[in-house]
Amino acid sequence: MQYTGITPELINRLKQAIRDADAVLIGAGAGLSTAAGFTYAGSRFERFFSDFIRKYHFRDMYTGGFYPFRSLEEKWAYWSRYILINRYENPPKPVYTRLLNQVKNKDFFVITTNVDHCFQKAGIDKARLFYTQGDYGLFQCSTPCHRRTYDNEEVILKMVAEQKDMRIPSALVPRCPKCGEPMTMNLRSDETFVEDLGWNEAASRYVNWVQARMDQKLLLLELGVGMNTPAIIKYPFWKLTAQNKSATYVCVNLGEAECPKEIEDRAIVITADVADLIDALQ
Ligand SMILES: [Zn+2]
Repeated sequence: MQYTGITPELINRLKQAIRDADAVLIGAGAGLSTAAGFTYAGSRFERFFSDFIRKYHFRDMYTGGFYPFRSLEEKWAYWSRYILINRYENPPKPVYTRLLNQVKNKDFFVITTNVDHCFQKAGIDKARLFYTQGDYGLFQCSTPCHRRTYDNEEVILKMVAEQKDMRIPSALVPRCPKCGEPMTMNLRSDETFVEDLGWNEAASRYVNWVQARMDQKLLLLELGVGMNTPAIIKYPFWKLTAQNKSATYVCVNLGEAECPKEIEDRAIVITADVADLIDALQ
């Protein structure tokens, strides 16, 4: 069933689908954080990066992150602000908290491609979360010479506090404790991504959780997942729905809500803002 916009009928149907489900699998993409107010352009970008915008004419926070800064001191002046506001500060709207409220009494699990860890900030039990693409809050060796990650909160806060004229003090430039090469964020952008112990445990928990519920009344709730990396959440959700005849697939997206014909009779496809929808479910 296809819906455009939010109607009382749709809300009743969704509430019932959540009530009836034995278990809920949430798949969260970039659209969910955008809905929570984590926007990477406009006033939020201008407020924190006006000096970088003046110097380099960056259009948004995301593309600015790819700029080949000439020094590590300048790179980390940029990235420490970026990590502070997108990883350690709460999103402007309580979308994640409200979403977790909807499933807190259910058997549920979350898989997300988001690296801002809003689920953790909203208080999720980490054992129910698989963060496939990494975490802004972790450093890893850029080489990488070893497969470990390091919490970066303390040093990121220092970098933000102690930077001057778009440079952090050289002593704060993070270096690998084993080989001395620069550290980088633990983000999947190429083959140097470190899948550490915590990541591997989360991956196994996800696989085991899904396998143990293949015959149950499963609700697959896909929120704000676009077509950038459909192989991580979207395609597996379609496949799981096709394999499990008592599963229901829900897709919420502002621009790319769709599903294949094979699962159409058990799908609720909604073109709407995720934040508005979650608000309406309260
Ligand atoms: Zn190293």
